[in-house]
Amino acid sequence: MSNFEQHLKDIIRENGPVTVAAFMAMAIEHYYSTRDPLGTRGDFTTAPEISQMFGEMIGVFLAQSWMELGSPAQFSLVEAGPGRGTLMADILRATKSVPGFHAAMRVHLVEISPVLMARQAEALQGYNIEWHTDIHDALASPAPALFVANEFLDALPVHQYVRQGGRWFERAVGLNGDQLAFGLIESDFSCDQSEENKIWEVSPARESVIRDIAGVIARCRGVALLIDYGHDRSGFGDTLQAVREHHFVNVLDHVGNADLTSHIDFQAIKGAAVLHTHVHGPVGQGHFLRNLGIELRAARLNQPAEMARLIDPGQMGDLFRVMALCHDPDLKLPGF
Ligand code: SAH
Repeated sequence: MSNFEQHLKDIIRENGPVTVAAFMAMAIEHYYSTRDPLGTRGDFTTAPEISQMFGEMIGVFLAQSWMELGSPAQFSLVEAGPGRGTLMADILRATKSVPGFHAAMRVHLVEISPVLMARQAEALQGYNIEWHTDIHDALASPAPALFVANEFLDALPVHQYVRQGGRWFERAVGLNGDQLAFGLIESDFSCDQSEENKIWEVSPARESVIRDIAGVIARCRGVALLIDYGHDRSGFGDTLQAVREHHFVNVLDHVGNADLTSHIDFQAIKGAAVLHTHVHGPVGQGHFLRNLGIELRAARLNQPAEMARLIDPGQMGDLFRVMALCHDPDLKLPGF
């Protein structure tokens, strides 16, 4: 048993079961702060690790967004959850020849993992980067902002609720003997869904981050691009998943040593953003990358297989959704 699992069991013995959201937050923090989980020798592979074309297309999106904003002489380029820094490195390489873009940008990275921060510093040598552990610090500048996040929201915790006998309970992780086990605890949650014994997921953490980003975009002007796996409409379902060495594993096995995520409810995210911003999408990643010209680029680089992984509906093309927020409905954002 890992030290983290022992620690979690001690907490549960002392205080009782922890909610799925608290469990997720603790496990993810431990997981990311102790390793680089990406790549073939890690636990999972993300789009920027599959192909440089992903970051190049996002570079095109950001450069065009900047020009749509009127090419401001100063702007913040913010990435949350930058992994190995690969996406930002590809964005910066792709935008190098856009006149004025690099001179105007200040790059901010939001990262909780010291291990990954070191990888990012390596990947982005030669650039002036500011790191933050809290997203609010990265969004503090009054300059216009271009914000990007790939597979960041899925790492933020989700609560799970179940209705039984007309009352809502929250799903929690407790102990059955010496084994971690799911159970239900009292809750004051309520919502207008009436089906019983099905899991309803809610992520105040994700919605709050989106509200904060949307607030900054509305106030300072700018564009936020969010890419993640999920569904366009809210619905019942248990989407909590653990991945280790590129395979799904039981959520309560390998706690703190497997990547723990859940699918994004884009309807909820959109609901949190529309108060302040105009929302584009979500659209499939395949649609987005094709509109930005990935087919031409793949032909030039002779990388049809990498492109297929990113855009085919059976691979990442549909499950991965792309959504953008901007302050002005008249901005012409490419890709949608
Ligand atoms: N965007 C990268 C990595 C995705 S993995 C890519 O596409 O390859 C998730 C990333 O989010 C990691 O860098 C992880 O350390 C970071 N992360 C997870 N929880 C976070 C949090 N609460 N705040 C900031 N970063 C977080």
